[in-house]
Amino acid sequence: MSKQSVKDISHKDQKVLMRVDFNVPLDAKGQIIDDRRIRMALPSIQHVLKEGGRLILMSHLGRPSGNGPESAYSLRPAAERLDDLLGKDHDVQFSTDCIGPVAEEAVNAVEPGHVLVLENLRFHSGEKSNDPAFAAALADHADIYVNDAFGTAHRNHASMVGVPEKMTGKPHVAGLLLMKELEFLSSAITEAKSPFFAVLGGAKVSDKLGAIQYLLDRVDVILVGGAMAYTFLASQGHVTGNSLVEKDMIETAGELLGRAKDSGKTILLPEDHQCAKSLEDAEGVRICEIGVPPDYMGLDIGPETAKAWKSEISKAKTVVWNGPLGVFETPPFDQGSREVAEGVVTATRHHAVSIVGGGETAAAVESFGLAGRFSHVSTGGGASLKMLEGVSFRSVELLDDA
Ligand code: AMP
Repeated sequence: MSKQSVKDISHKDQKVLMRVDFNVPLDAKGQIIDDRRIRMALPSIQHVLKEGGRLILMSHLGRPSGNGPESAYSLRPAAERLDDLLGKDHDVQFSTDCIGPVAEEAVNAVEPGHVLVLENLRFHSGEKSNDPAFAAALADHADIYVNDAFGTAHRNHASMVGVPEKMTGKPHVAGLLLMKELEFLSSAITEAKSPFFAVLGGAKVSDKLGAIQYLLDRVDVILVGGAMAYTFLASQGHVTGNSLVEKDMIETAGELLGRAKDSGKTILLPEDHQCAKSLEDAEGVRICEIGVPPDYMGLDIGPETAKAWKSEISKAKTVVWNGPLGVFETPPFDQGSREVAEGVVTATRHHAVSIVGGGETAAAVESFGLAGRFSHVSTGGGASLKMLEGVSFRSVELLDDA
């Protein structure tokens, strides 16, 4: 279902309330470590400003208690960074509360072509609980509602669903980042070209179960790596040493392997592993074949598996990837993910559509310097995983149809 975007309506002199995802990582001194999420929101922000809108931005940051302001979670650093990124032509003001008299005064003072950033929505418990009075107070700020916060699209919080519900009769449109995310993560999957590969890794089978079930009907091949591979290998009776195995998921993993076989789909599991007695034991890293011996943990797919998967996936026409194939944060356990990422880059060069789910996988391909060579790297970890499960979002349903 396609939705109206910021480009479909006029913003001139209108008060535009835009939900963005400025949930950026901060260091102990409150400095922004990575401003990617702010930069990704710029196209929508600049569009509204160019069209003469009075822009009011709202976001959450981190996990404050919800009982009032906490300086460690203030959005002020994000507002300052936005001010730097927008340059001299656009003023960026900051309101120390997102509702109440302080916010109302600041909202009324925003001139066309300029910006107000509201303080962290989650300083009010009503954001997460979708409190109607809190949503109404936010809704009162504006004439137009824009949702450009893909990272939060799966959450039924006040700023995502309560506010558009309260703004009846006023436009509710998607921002350009949200449009792009939806386009890649939904149509690229439902209209995928074959061979279609899914790469699933990360910590737990239980987190990815919905995605495996949804993708199994749509893909040709699923490569299963990361810690979750060991639950699948355990279901086949292999020894897994001290690798992370979810005992209560072994039976389910076995059933999924059976379902794949019956429907002519391929689930590939690693045939060798980089193993160590602990993550710190860099000296004692060894390659194990098939099983993982007692006292050892499988911490990455092994070199033979990486080589084979890299070669296979370079022939793909569609790739979706969620979850690193090893503990990529600690070399040498980044090697498997790196090689497979290189294979996906080759496929992309040959016109495959390649999509990386956000979160850890995005961090992995960015650390390899390869993020720019995929078709799309999602900004949403949880939200992109939900889309791979085929879930539709209330926050998106509430936007006006094209
Ligand atoms: P997820 O958020 O479920 O995608 O999990 C990502 C995390 O899984 C990363 O931080 C990896 O370090 C971790 N991971 C990947 N492979 C393994 C493994 N073989 N053993 C333990 N942790 C792993």
